Amino acid sequence: MAQIIDGKLTAKNLRAQIAVEVQKLKDSIGVTPGLAVVLVGADGASEVYVKNKAKQTSEVGMNSFEHRLPEETTEAELLMLIDTLNNDPSVHGILVQLPLPKHIDDKKILSAILPAKDVDGFHPINAGMLATGGSALVPCTPVGCVILAKQAKADLTGLNAVVIGRSNIVGKPVSQLLLNENCTVTIAHSRSQNLAEIVKRADLVVAAAGQCEMVKADWIKPGAIVIDVGIHRTVNEEGKTKLKGDVAYDEVAEVAGYITPVPGGVGPMTIACLLRNSVVACCRLHGQSDPDL
Ligand code: NAD
Repeated sequence: MAQIIDGKLTAKNLRAQIAVEVQKLKDSIGVTPGLAVVLVGADGASEVYVKNKAKQTSEVGMNSFEHRLPEETTEAELLMLIDTLNNDPSVHGILVQLPLPKHIDDKKILSAILPAKDVDGFHPINAGMLATGGSALVPCTPVGCVILAKQAKADLTGLNAVVIGRSNIVGKPVSQLLLNENCTVTIAHSRSQNLAEIVKRADLVVAAAGQCEMVKADWIKPGAIVIDVGIHRTVNEEGKTKLKGDVAYDEVAEVAGYITPVPGGVGPMTIACLLRNSVVACCRLHGQSDPDL
């Protein structure tokens, strides 16, 4: 039976370390890191994420700035707000919650955020820096995946890693990070053939396809590390909501060596890594060396 990699606990420990770094910044240079979160419109899931982000930001001692804009906000108005935040010295991290309403071009918006404050790591400059080995701000969920994989095995060097999914948000950046960890990385996607066979070769699987319980036990090499990024809200016969991942957890846990649960795996790491990025951004903007997080 696989050992469970506890994302909730790992995230809690990371937040405790972040709180220490925040206090150090306050004491040494009198600066409080600030994170601004922008939500346009009223998407149910986004509301919950934004609330959680604000709560956890305050809990680690950072300043949290929430900007809730109506659904009918124009692209120009949103760009104006980003410009204001880019120039606000009390704001070190800017996050625009996705998805944005259809009439707003999210690429244009994300590219307008100052790369040094782009704590989501989605700006092309940060994506390029990650690809070329620069000191980027790296997308939060992928960083969380790697931290969790390293809980199972501190040194990932030489492992065959298979990432299922090639999105800019998860699949591509997590692949880059695993390459940096000296893994041999295969990126599988919706057009890959013989996915089960590809995954079966993996010592480390990152499932980020957005397909509920797609990864089955007979796809998994015995003892492999399985990181499940998927989040799916399902309703059972009694009408109860249950969160599921991209991995058929119960059966895969019988074969894998280590596995992240859903909920309680990658999910909690995402916000913790966002706070981490905000502290890193604050340090860099104030000419300090990166914190040891
Ligand atoms: P996406 O839809 O942008 O990308 C999915 C990727 O999976 C695509 O590259 C596609 O080629 C690939 N794919 C789709 N179907 C496939 C199939 N049948 N076989 C192989 N590959 C397939 O999704 P995303 O934004 O990368 O998110 C992926 C999942 O992770 C979603 O369930 C999302 O909800 C979840 N997610 C979780 C967190 C978190 O904090 N835990 C954060 C971001 C995304």
